[in-house]
Amino acid sequence: MYKDKLLFSQEFQAYIMQEAEKRKKAEELFPSFKNLSSEKVLNLAVDKFRGKLAFASSLGLEDQVITDIIAKNKLDIPIFTLDTGRFFNETYELIEKTEKHYALKISVYFPEPSDIENMVRNFGVNLFYESAEKRKYCCAQRKVKPLRRALSGLSAWICGLRREQSITRSGLEVIEWDEGNNLVKINPLTDWTEEKVKDYITENKVPYNPLHDRGFISIGCACCTRAVKPGEHPRSGRWWWEAPEQKECGLHIVNGRLERIIKS
Ligand code: SF4
Repeated sequence: MYKDKLLFSQEFQAYIMQEAEKRKKAEELFPSFKNLSSEKVLNLAVDKFRGKLAFASSLGLEDQVITDIIAKNKLDIPIFTLDTGRFFNETYELIEKTEKHYALKISVYFPEPSDIENMVRNFGVNLFYESAEKRKYCCAQRKVKPLRRALSGLSAWICGLRREQSITRSGLEVIEWDEGNNLVKINPLTDWTEEKVKDYITENKVPYNPLHDRGFISIGCACCTRAVKPGEHPRSGRWWWEAPEQKECGLHIVNGRLERIIKS
């Protein structure tokens, strides 16, 4: 018994050391990603993480820009998306349109059916309106768990996050260690403004979700997204019944510490 515990402890220690080494090696690359254009960031990402890299697209405007850059530069970066099962029909149409437009494939990951069945049986179909905890639980089942599956075996993933998108993203770096998922996260559009994103979409005729033309800015699940009035914060259409500092789904908490980002 004691021997088993000792072995387990040694294995655990070895695992911790291995992970620390992995992180240290990754962080040594970070300076080379500074002050580069988005295109160069993506090229460098392929160079450094070839075969162990993927782009997580939520089909938003920023993600469509990244898809455009990947397709035009023929970058070896697989694209995946997480289908929560509660999307707008326009989002499904956009998946199809994007695949046809660029002649590429977007891998779709779904939640585990048993996770959703258990959640709905216990808390109902619209549990997310009842409390922040239940909303985060739903996001965990429908997004975070499938994301873990999509990221398994990778060394780095790419996201379309921008600093000005929300209070929780103000400390965002172009490349950072994603402690929650234990790999590198690359954000090639960190410094882009909303205007720059829209201009790129128009100038390059990038396919996008028509809901954006009807006041929807950040588009997620249909039940948790609403149109935003002029002058309202872009993220105010997501989980509008919650306080701003609660508005993350567990996919993008930098260094696992939401509090630190809010204060910065
Ligand atoms: S956005 Fe809403 S429906 Fe979608 S996973 Fe999160 S809580 Fe569930």
